[in-house]
Amino acid sequence: SMDAGDFAAWIRSTAGRVSADAERLTRLDAAIGDGDHGLNLDRGFRAAVEALPEDAPPGKVLIVAGRAIVSKTGGASGPLYGTVLRRAGKSFGDAAGVDAAALGAALRAALEGVQDLGKAAEGDKTMVDALAPAVAAYEAALADGSDLAGCARAAAEAASKGADGTVPMRARKGRASYLGERSEGHMDPGASSTALVLEALADTAG
Ligand code: ADP
Ligand code: MG
Ligand code: MG
Repeated sequence: SMDAGDFAAWIRSTAGRVSADAERLTRLDAAIGDGDHGLNLDRGFRAAVEALPEDAPPGKVLIVAGRAIVSKTGGASGPLYGTVLRRAGKSFGDAAGVDAAALGAALRAALEGVQDLGKAAEGDKTMVDALAPAVAAYEAALADGSDLAGCARAAAEAASKGADGTVPMRARKGRASYLGERSEGHMDPGASSTALVLEALADTAG
């Protein structure tokens, strides 16, 4: 199971990866958006790391991190990633430890939050195309009896495949949708960053 320190470590690991990959994410966004996705997330996750509370349960850690991201991240992705962390955190309640089933429920809640807010379905070329298959793969691994680390690894792999799968899609949500068919042939930046966030989770859990 994961405790508050593990969730803080996840946020730090994500911030490190986002920072290292900011240029690549921004390049993806330059192709089909406005070229700020790496910058937005870098700013947001830095703020999340700075806001991480001491002596708080996992739920509170994620809620505080999510709020920091919403307040510091410009663009569509701020509210969406803020929702991911806040919904996940809320689903933990006051629990001090999060087991494999609870983490799966949190990821499911996060996906529902993103879809409530952004109204994107799978196939619309957004972060949902990485997050939805990740949640499904997590749940399938859980049903097969995998432990938390195994479920998180399955989720990360599915997210990465899901991000790759956005390349041929035509964007139907967000800024990239303004490009119509010219959005085809490029990976969605938010799907790519979602894969990175779940990769950090799998590494922290493992
Ligand atoms: P902006 O487009 O406002 O500049 P970012 O560049 O930071 O914001 O984030 C763009 C990413 O946000 C997209 O690649 C996509 O994955 C995600 N996104 C945009 N709109 C939606 C939506 N309605 N639902 C889900 N994800 C979305
Ligand atoms: Mg952008
Ligand atoms: Mg923008």
